[in-house]
Amino acid sequence: MEYPYSFEELVECFKLLPGIGKKGAERMVYHVLSMDEDQVKRLSDALINLKKNMKYCQKCGHICEDELCDICKDTSRDQSTICIVESPRDVFAMEKLKEYNGLYHVIHGTVSIMDGKTIEDLNVMSLFDRIDENVKEVIIATNPTREGETTSLFLARLLSQYDISISRIANGLPMGSNLEYADELTLLKSLEGRKKL
Ligand SMILES: [Zn+2]
Repeated sequence: MEYPYSFEELVECFKLLPGIGKKGAERMVYHVLSMDEDQVKRLSDALINLKKNMKYCQKCGHICEDELCDICKDTSRDQSTICIVESPRDVFAMEKLKEYNGLYHVIHGTVSIMDGKTIEDLNVMSLFDRIDENVKEVIIATNPTREGETTSLFLARLLSQYDISISRIANGLPMGSNLEYADELTLLKSLEGRKKL
């Protein structure tokens, strides 16, 4: 016997989420059925509002609800250091350390020969616009994956035209791993042990 249409449709929607299979999706739909109407409305509003209100910071590319993110707005942060990361998730991972007080630049992905993605496809041109006499160091914190390393090489080459210090987070992170999954101590050591390029 098939599920009623509305039930099946929500199962299919939940299956779009990462790590959710058919069984898990069905369990979630049964749970939604048991929720009261206010809770369901809150859930559906939250989904709509997320898409409607989320923007990318015009300066660094991090997610925010205004033109600029909270980090770019914060003038107490060290304006002389920019840390390049692949995604907003990496910004949150770094911020959890409560150790880094500089700025970020989110490039949204990596160079990928397989996917035909070049350095120009990334949020990189806006990074060069940000480099002025105030910027002293750029830390390349792309993930220690093959794509992350390739991207790091491209970035280092492009940045070498500026009179700034360029560094790469150290190899403490296991090859193929992601910043966001690294434990805080490993990430901290990797940041502290960054090497000049
Ligand atoms: Zn920003």
